[in-house]
Amino acid sequence: MFDLEKWIRPNILHLKPYSSARDEFKGEASVFLDANENPHNGPYNRYPDPLQWELKKKIAAVKGVAPESIFLGVGSDECIDVLFRAFCVPGRDNVVAIDPTYGMYKVCADINDVAYRPVRLNENFDFDVDDLLNRVDDHTKLIFLCSPNNPSGNSLSDEKIEQLLQRYPGLVVVDEAYIDFASRPGFLPRLSQYDNLVVLHTFSKAWGAAAVRLGMAFAHPSIIAVFNKIKYPYNINLLTQRYAAEMLDRYPQVEAWVDELVASRELLRRQLATLPVVRRIYPSDANFLLVRVDDAQRVYDFLVGRGIIVRNRNKITLCDNCLRITVGTGEEDSLLIDALQSYSASI
Ligand SMILES: *Cc1c(COP(=O)(O)O)cnc(C)c1O
Repeated sequence: MFDLEKWIRPNILHLKPYSSARDEFKGEASVFLDANENPHNGPYNRYPDPLQWELKKKIAAVKGVAPESIFLGVGSDECIDVLFRAFCVPGRDNVVAIDPTYGMYKVCADINDVAYRPVRLNENFDFDVDDLLNRVDDHTKLIFLCSPNNPSGNSLSDEKIEQLLQRYPGLVVVDEAYIDFASRPGFLPRLSQYDNLVVLHTFSKAWGAAAVRLGMAFAHPSIIAVFNKIKYPYNINLLTQRYAAEMLDRYPQVEAWVDELVASRELLRRQLATLPVVRRIYPSDANFLLVRVDDAQRVYDFLVGRGIIVRNRNKITLCDNCLRITVGTGEEDSLLIDALQSYSASI
């Protein structure tokens, strides 16, 4: 059993959270004079539901979890930040993470004055359970995994993630921002099996809604209750709540985008493989490919000159001379391939 009271920061355990007008009166009424709102300009005059229940019910149906197991944040970034603020004592605690991975875990650790312990992946961008556990000490509060991983694109081994969940008593965070593009179910179906598991999803990738800033954390309801206690009371505004609810009604559209992008990813892989400048294309379960080329900076600069921007990951652990290329529309992908053919012809 995950012993929440042992892992949570003492000040958060004892925190008396802000109580809003909407917290104090819940129910049906016709005259609301309790929150100093302007009576004009409906529906935007009213504070939104602080716990976003309507939206969470829709998300719960699509994701197959209970609404009480869902936290909504302003992007996954807020979900990551509340994890630090709930569990890590600044200046004392630490977190362990795979390396390379998504940059926000370290930035959030730095902002919260929490030591960040990166553990290098192997050449295939997979991790070793003992390597991670060897970096754990009495002050390690979180382990961050990202699967499919950014920037490598591969899924981590499900068996190893399970081993880690069984052997590490603290929270294991599995960031599944790209899970919709993978051919495996991810860890949401196992949420009720592990009460030390936190899974992160986002509207920014498969859902095509990076601009609305909506991230999801899934965990045991007792952990979600802690996040709700420390978040800004009205973190998810009404525009976002409504737009996301509409998107959930259009779920078949999202599935169609995912199918298209996965097919495009494989086409792009085959086309890139024919180019002399390409040394290696890593396996991907995401909507991008990590590609090793002869001279990443030179290829990057050439593409910029053509108005095509990819991500140069040359300076990242294990990513020497690698570019991270997002799958675009068929037309955008063709422009990229044409440009890389011209590059090959020009050198
Ligand atoms: C893109 C991405 C996210 C999304 O972050 P948001 O704040 O929800 O936009 C989360 N995790 C990883 C690993 C990502 O690559």
